[in-house]
Amino acid sequence: MDLIPASSLAPYSIYCVGKNYQLHAEEMLQWESKGGTAEKPEEPLIFLKPSTSLSYNGKTFIPLYQEKPISTRMHYEAELVVLIDRDAESVPAEEAMSFVGGYGIGLDMTLRDVQMDAKGKGEPWLKCKGFKNSSLVSDLVPADDIHNPDTLVFELSLNNVIVQKGVPEKMLFSIPVLISYLSYIYGLRAGDLLFTGTPEGVGKVKSGDMLHAELLQNRCCSSTLLTVLDVVVGP
Ligand code: MG
Repeated sequence: MDLIPASSLAPYSIYCVGKNYQLHAEEMLQWESKGGTAEKPEEPLIFLKPSTSLSYNGKTFIPLYQEKPISTRMHYEAELVVLIDRDAESVPAEEAMSFVGGYGIGLDMTLRDVQMDAKGKGEPWLKCKGFKNSSLVSDLVPADDIHNPDTLVFELSLNNVIVQKGVPEKMLFSIPVLISYLSYIYGLRAGDLLFTGTPEGVGKVKSGDMLHAELLQNRCCSSTLLTVLDVVVGP
């Protein structure tokens, strides 16, 4: 299968979904010292990363401002990434899958300390989510090669230890519902990317760490490796 190269990606917008897996929503509640069961919201929690957040060289790092790192706690979040291949305006969920051009595995790098500070103050998430080199995406599998996206799974290793496993079938808001929602409220453009949310198991990285993410397809009793993403955490 011919993959769509990550180097060809040029999104107008990078949409991301927060808390789209139940167990991740609950681990976030723990850190906010709330704990308990996360209720499924009525609508998905959407935020944007600027297109300048895309890393094309497999490197991520905490930016400096006035010669100081802007965070002390960068976390990985492995996510299924959907490429939109044509403009979508007010599309019902039943038609939304025809707007998918491909599937990749991505990392939504997050400055967790900055995020917790922003949440406490009720401020936007742009700094904690949208910094340079915070969005990383593998080469993508053309949608025509994936007849049933519910067969996709992914996993992430940190320094060769598996830390996250994702089953997109368990997303609280499914891919067609997300595309439909975005198309009604914002309008999607050809080339836009959608990070569909991270499962539980997010954690901290430090300079020198190696992240390796795989997107696989489960069929019957075997799984096929579709595409990989290798990322080095820089100083
Ligand atoms: Mg995320």
